Formats: sequence, structure tokens, C-alpha cells
Amino acid sequence: MSDTAYHRQLGMGEEAFEQLEEHVQQREYEGREYRHVPDYRRGVERGTVLIEGQIVRGFPKVPRTLVLSEGIPQHFDGPLAVEEKLNGYNVRVARLDGDVLAFSRSGMVCPFTTRVLEGMVDLEPIFEAHPDAMVCGEMIGPENPYTAHDYPEVDSLAFRAFDWRNRESGEPLPVEDRRDRYESFDVPQTRLFGIYEPEEAATELREIVEELDAEDREGIVMKAPDGGNELKYTASAANQGDLEFAFTYPFDYGQAFMFRRLIREAFQTVEWDESEAEARERAHELGEAILLSMRDTVETIDDGGRVDERHTVRADDEAIDALLEHLRGQGLTVDVVEDDHEDGDRVVTFDKRIQSTNDKTRSYLDGHIVTE
Ligand code: ATP
Ligand code: MG
Repeated sequence: MSDTAYHRQLGMGEEAFEQLEEHVQQREYEGREYRHVPDYRRGVERGTVLIEGQIVRGFPKVPRTLVLSEGIPQHFDGPLAVEEKLNGYNVRVARLDGDVLAFSRSGMVCPFTTRVLEGMVDLEPIFEAHPDAMVCGEMIGPENPYTAHDYPEVDSLAFRAFDWRNRESGEPLPVEDRRDRYESFDVPQTRLFGIYEPEEAATELREIVEELDAEDREGIVMKAPDGGNELKYTASAANQGDLEFAFTYPFDYGQAFMFRRLIREAFQTVEWDESEAEARERAHELGEAILLSMRDTVETIDDGGRVDERHTVRADDEAIDALLEHLRGQGLTVDVVEDDHEDGDRVVTFDKRIQSTNDKTRSYLDGHIVTE
């Protein structure tokens, strides 16, 4: 199919599409060529895929409020459904020409997720009944190649659906229909806490967020019942967890990433009207998340070691080979640390090499003078 058809499917003019084309990435998956939009461009969602004349829409960016009490009534003029925000990696699954493919947030086919998902949930009946479905969800659990976070209910890796959209238009199903459908297809989903009125939501949601926080869970996503309008809010544990992670690699993470998370903590302590003692405790935890992780990094490198991003994955041989090839194909340096078999699965621990933090820390330790 020609590109002219793509512009129509995306609902944009020919000229706008030509400009978009300058920013797409060309890739190949098992002999199939495709292009994807790695960043938000000209009203086209990040992660949108153009493949063999077909479109897979990107997952929209979810806006955030820093203050529940004001943000919710600003964003919603009617009831809102509140679901748990899970901390893992985003995946969109679509069936194209008979093949079920899992796409990453930026629109790459993830060969690992594509393979492991097949053994976790049977999505074929969904695509039989709804060929245009785009199954959206989060991959969660400790054994994954991108963002590991522990959930007591997940030993290795699991899928949780949180959205169902039309692959071509990006239109979501209403929350209730979506939940019923996933249930009828036996697909595990994220938790629904309830439906709230905007005026009363802030008080009740604060309690939910506090409970999630105590269990080291990430937060909530609020949605209009028609599925269209979303808003997120995160627990302190998630902000601090992100800071701890980012400050382990202080010269590799963007400073804006850290700054945004610090700001969230400031608004939360004020909105929740914390006492002096509570605010001090938060400050203490925040300081630990920042300083102790950096201290570990500097000490490790001072002792002659390295800090890299370590992941463990468990799958069949072929899925793991495909993953390592995929990561290396993106220019990452991957060192396999352990490679074993357990109960028929291959279990591999690997490091994704982190560069700047190792180099800069070494050079500062060697007395490099900073002019700033
Ligand atoms: P982006 O918003 O571009 O994905 P981000 O890193 O800021 O980037 P998050 O802060 O994790 O993203 O928030 C949005 C993401 O939350 C979604 O892309 C999705 O993967 C994830 N998510 C987890 N649970 C839910 C849920 N119940 N509903 C919607 N999204 C969810
Ligand atoms: Mg996330």
C-alpha cells in the first residue's frame, strides 16, 4: 500500500505526513519491514507504527496532576474510574497478517515480549473476535529486561491489561465494557478501585494512594468512564524509588527526570498537610534515596568495580537469544553474567552497560578538577 493511504489512515494531510516521515525510524522484524514514530510528532502519538499498509496507534501520554484536590475537578467534569497504576513496561499487542506482535512504548516490536506473552495469556480469541483490537497493558514483575519492580503476586513476569483500543483509530473502549471483555476472555487486568465523583474523589483517593504507598506500589490512573480522558498520580514510594534508581547512575539520567520527582514530593507534603515530624521523615527518606544510592555508586567505582544496569530474565532459549540480539542491535553493550537452566527455562542475568556514570565518577575520583 502506498504512503498516501497511511496519511489518510492517520487523518492528516499529505504534506504533514511527508514531514512526519522524516522523523520515523525504519526497522525490520523477522523479515517484515516497518516504521515507527519514536517521539511525539505533529499530533501523532509516540510509538505509532506503520507496517505493511496498516497502522498501530501509539499509546497516548497520560497527563499528571501534582495536586489531587484541584487537579481532579480541573480535569474531569463528571465521574472518574480509578485504576491502579502498575510499575512495569508498557506493551501494545496487535495481530497483523496473522501474527500477534507486542510493541514497546516507542513502537518497536519487542521479540522477547512477543514470545513470552504467548505463554502467559491466550490473546488469539480476542483477535479472532476483534481483529482491530489493540490490547494495552503493563508487563510487571522482577524478571524483565527493562524495568524491574517487585510485586508480591508476581514471581517472574506477568501481563495486566489496562486499556483496549482500536488499533487504527486509537479509540478506547469505555472502562466498563473493557473490563467485562477482558474478563470474558480470561485476561488478567489491573485493579479497579471504583468510580468517584470529582468533588469527593481527592479525599478517598488520598487514602488509596497512602495504602499503595505503604505496599511500595506506584499509584493510580483516573479515567473518564468512556475511557477517553486520563490522569495519573503517584505515591511517594514510587517517586523515591525512581530517585534511588536515577541517582545510582547520576551522570546518565537527565537532571529533569530527577527534578520532576522532587517537585512531586513537595506538592504532596503540602497537599497532605503533613506535620513537621512527617515532613522531616519524608525529607529524610528523600535524602537517603538520593545520597545513599550515589554513595554506593562512588564506593563501588572507588573499589575498582562498575555500576551497570542488571536484569534477570526467564524464558525459553530462543526468546532469550532474540532478546539479547534485539538489545545489542540497538547499540547497547550487554554482558551476560549468568546463564543457567532451571526447570526447563533458561535464566539469564545480564548487565546493560552504563557509560557516563562509570567514566565521570572514575575521573572525579582520580582528582579531575571541575570548573563550574
Ligand atoms: P509515558 O506517559 O510517555 O508512558 P512515563 O514514563 O511518564 O511515559 P508513566 O509515568 O509510567 O509513563 O505513566 C504512563 C504509563 O503508565 C502508561 O504508558 C502505562 O504503561 C502505565 N500504566 C500502568 N498502569 C496503568 C493503568 N491502569 N492505566 C493506564 N496506564 C497505566
Ligand atoms: Mg511506568
